[in-house]
Amino acid sequence: MSKAVYPGSFDPFTNGHLDITERGARIFDELIVAVLVNSEKQAMFSVEERRMMSSEATVHLPNVKVMSFDGLLVDFMRRERSRVILRGLRALSDFEYEFQLAQMNRQLAPETETFFMVTDAKFSYLSSRSVKEVFKFGGAIQEFVPPGVFRRMRERIPPRAME
Ligand code: ADP
Repeated sequence: MSKAVYPGSFDPFTNGHLDITERGARIFDELIVAVLVNSEKQAMFSVEERRMMSSEATVHLPNVKVMSFDGLLVDFMRRERSRVILRGLRALSDFEYEFQLAQMNRQLAPETETFFMVTDAKFSYLSSRSVKEVFKFGGAIQEFVPPGVFRRMRERIPPRAME
């Protein structure tokens, strides 16, 4: 049985994340989308909201489970008995950060391997951050995120709409 973990902030879960999850679910027997309780980044959604939105978006994938975790990824991996970390790569600009992260995780837990999946070209520009930026200025985000995420974002009134 191959079991991989796809960790991230998922604030919010986008169609780019969904693409990596769907493709990962075809490769690995079991895939855990692991929502990080991030203490550094100021999140738009709480970890519980992020977990629920990610679960809703992946409900059609029977071998995908969404969990949240606090602390070190490698400790979570050990608890879940998984040795494979799945990450997505969009551009060269992702590489340095991802490379450092993979090296650090390898140092902390030599039994783990990081697998990178290259983005589908149509999602290469898409990030949670850009979705939040577009939303903040009242732009259309419907085509960038799963329907449940869109619904929840709409419930938050973008600042422009209040002017
Ligand atoms: P983090 O907060 O850990 O940087 P994110 O939640 O932004 O993570 O993303 C989680 C993972 O998904 C990262 O490996 C990121 O590179 C990848 N990812 C994000 N958006 C896309 C996309 N549009 N296509 C492919 N991979 C993506």
